[in-house]
Amino acid sequence: MDDLISFIETINKEKWKSEEVSLETGKLLYKNTPGFIEYIPHHSDSALIMAISVGIHGNETAPIEIVWDIIQKIKSQRILPKIRILFIFGHPQAMLAGKRFLGFNLNRLFSGNHKNFKEYLESERAQEIEEGLTRFFSEANESSSRWHLDLHTAIRGSHHQRFAVRPYYGRDLDVDQTELQICAAMGVEAILKTISPATTFAGFSATHLKAKSFTVELGSVAPFGKNDLSCFAMAKNTIIHILKTGLIHELPQETKPLVYDVKKELINDHDDYEFYIADDYLNFTPLTQGQAIEKNKEGILEAKKNQSIVFPNPHVPQGQRTGLLVQPQGHIPDC
Ligand SMILES: [Zn+2]
Repeated sequence: MDDLISFIETINKEKWKSEEVSLETGKLLYKNTPGFIEYIPHHSDSALIMAISVGIHGNETAPIEIVWDIIQKIKSQRILPKIRILFIFGHPQAMLAGKRFLGFNLNRLFSGNHKNFKEYLESERAQEIEEGLTRFFSEANESSSRWHLDLHTAIRGSHHQRFAVRPYYGRDLDVDQTELQICAAMGVEAILKTISPATTFAGFSATHLKAKSFTVELGSVAPFGKNDLSCFAMAKNTIIHILKTGLIHELPQETKPLVYDVKKELINDHDDYEFYIADDYLNFTPLTQGQAIEKNKEGILEAKKNQSIVFPNPHVPQGQRTGLLVQPQGHIPDC
């Protein structure tokens, strides 16, 4: 763990050094952008190119530990990747402070939103990360299959232990087979298919860089060294499998994720707005049919069969979102 902490301490403009490590089957590049490490194989016949980001929220440490371990194994040639892969360590200052962020939530500053919040240190980092990832994908040829997995751990508990948020692509696109496969292999139980552009990191790579992209919530927050890494083994094994084979379609499918559609964005829309979801509600927990969700300016909104809420937050100013009302696609058996 000390090695990892020492490494994180170097992710800043003063200490970071770009460097090339030659390996038998490829090279490992410490890029000009602090916290960006890329592996380039000497030979590859895979069309896949992938970016994996961790620690966009600094206290979500399990994915950081996983990626760190994978990089060590690449360095010692115990993993010989067949694809070009970029690892991004998102918010080093927040990692060292053990905090989600210091000034402003970094995962709301992408797609140029950093320009609106220049006073925060996260804004500079968001811009740096956008530029670094843009360069990485711009070096790939047009026909390559671009992927970006932004790995997180959730603060709020969830009815589905692991879930993925699938960004909006500017039009209604079904979740395709490879997306289902990669999520299933990571043990993701639910995919939330969003319907509007977001200023998240995954939203940026989907909208601006034509990558297949997910924000993946893998489990719960814990300090460095205190993670139960067995909870994250499926995600780690999936990444290693993709690196070693360059293939997604061969991934094992343990569970088939449910795909959730957003039925309504819940908005605090007037002075007497009320939100009836309990503070300890777990994301995706099925609501009872007829259960009151909110009092909006049209009246009381009641839940229909199989509906649930994701990201509930009543403590927002008027005009902002209090949650997403969602429903799984297809037939769900009564239980
Ligand atoms: Zn997060």
